[in-house]
Amino acid sequence: MRKDKKTILVTGGAGFIGTNLCRRLVREGHTVYCLDNLATGSEDNIRDLEDAENFHFLCQDVTGLPCLPADEIYHLACPASPVQYQKNPVRTARTLFQGALAVLELARSRGARVLLASTSEVYGEPLVHPQPESYFGNVNPNGVRSCYDEGKRISETLFFDYRRMFGTDIRVARIFNSYGPFMSENDGRVVSNLVTRALRGEALTVYGSGTQTRCFCYVDDTVEALVRLMAKDDFCGPVNIGNPHEITVQELAEKIRLLTDEDLPITYGALPADDPTRRRPDISLARRELSWEPEISLEDGLKKTIEFFRRQQIRSPQQTEKIYETGLVMGVFDLFHIGHLNLIRRAKSRCRYLRAAVLSDELVLAYKGAEPIIPAPERMEILKSLKDVDEVVCITEDASRIKEWKRRPFDCFFSGDDYRGSDYWQWEEQELKKLGADIVFFPYTKECSSTDIRNRIKE
Ligand code: NAD
Ligand code: UDP
Repeated sequence: MRKDKKTILVTGGAGFIGTNLCRRLVREGHTVYCLDNLATGSEDNIRDLEDAENFHFLCQDVTGLPCLPADEIYHLACPASPVQYQKNPVRTARTLFQGALAVLELARSRGARVLLASTSEVYGEPLVHPQPESYFGNVNPNGVRSCYDEGKRISETLFFDYRRMFGTDIRVARIFNSYGPFMSENDGRVVSNLVTRALRGEALTVYGSGTQTRCFCYVDDTVEALVRLMAKDDFCGPVNIGNPHEITVQELAEKIRLLTDEDLPITYGALPADDPTRRRPDISLARRELSWEPEISLEDGLKKTIEFFRRQQIRSPQQTEKIYETGLVMGVFDLFHIGHLNLIRRAKSRCRYLRAAVLSDELVLAYKGAEPIIPAPERMEILKSLKDVDEVVCITEDASRIKEWKRRPFDCFFSGDDYRGSDYWQWEEQELKKLGADIVFFPYTKECSSTDIRNRIKE
């Protein structure tokens, strides 16, 4: 018997599809762990979920997945935009191989059902049209898209081998181009590119002649299909999830122009290497097994997407407070959660250069009486990967903390207001004043303390 309210892990949960999925699962009352290294996702996407008691965020790479509780796992972690996944193709391939292994091991040890967000890219430059799941594809094994295409193919291989070897309860969804709210404005995909360019009054960029085709599925439809696939007991896929309505990229640009600003020009650039010429899902299997088909038309979906990006622009912050040259934000940063990310973001909004300091494992042990769950070198890597952090240093002893501060001064010390309650604050405050640094505290709203998460991981 499957539980009604489940504990669900979403890897890549701060990305486009992940954010939409997490929102739905939180709304339905499940306990949701969202794990993401924020490579292409953003804490802005999930910030408003921080007050929900049943939502927990972990800023971590999927390849170093901790042993979280989970009845179900949606494995989405991987950049999906060609521009993004080609930036560091080796990392993309590693994410797809080691990430899949890590979630499969977790699923195996927890007896969890695990769903892979695979892709239409497994069909490559398709010679069969539309593409049914039985088609093995036509993929270049060593081109610029291969890290992703072949990476997803090896993820699928691992999923099916775990099923054959260990009986792991897998689900495989082959997602075709999805779009909608929470796409990242800068990630290079066609819908977000064209909509944001149109809203800025810039020319719409079509690559090649624009005759290549795609099928665009609104994200609510995509998420509905994923949830149905996860819920279905006797069907593991692979199954195509996409909208069969096929259009050329030129037609898409014209539609977006019509919905935003009819006067915008369309410019034509080079077609990226290995860009598939035609793509359309055969969704007969999804119709039959999941009783699913897309409900939202391209026009309605584009209107909602345009509205989302319009609101984003209105929300951009107005800077009125004092801006410092160099800021220092300090903490243990053990098991990253929303509170830490908020703190870092707000600190960066008040200084041009942000240095983050982490305490060494020895100091954490001395202060807190417990070793941190994530060791200092790994915490430093996480901090380095955040776009708001310019530099990371490790404080290894109290004396070196003062030495470090004197050696490389900063104008402002930032922390969360809970920091004032710590044993060492009085001592630290005096030292900071001697150095002439301002002190700024931000309200530190935690969606869940590190200790809570630690206890839950141990459960
Ligand atoms: P996205 O880039 O917006 O989201 C991916 C998320 O994964 C991001 O938040 C990113 O920070 C995170 N991530 C990347 N590498 C990670 C790592 N090593 N460890 C932890 N987190 C990591 O992409 P999306 O459109 O939301 O796609 C989600 C998933 O669906 C991806 O696996 C993608 O391949 C698949 N997919 C998406 C589409 C689509 O049209 N959106 C189509 C086919 C397949
Ligand atoms: N594309 C475009 N203009 C853009 C971005 C993309 O013409 O500003 C094209 C791209 O070359 C491809 C299609 O739009 O033919 C879809 O690209 P996207 O990166 O969204 O996804 P893909 O389906 O290629 O993974």
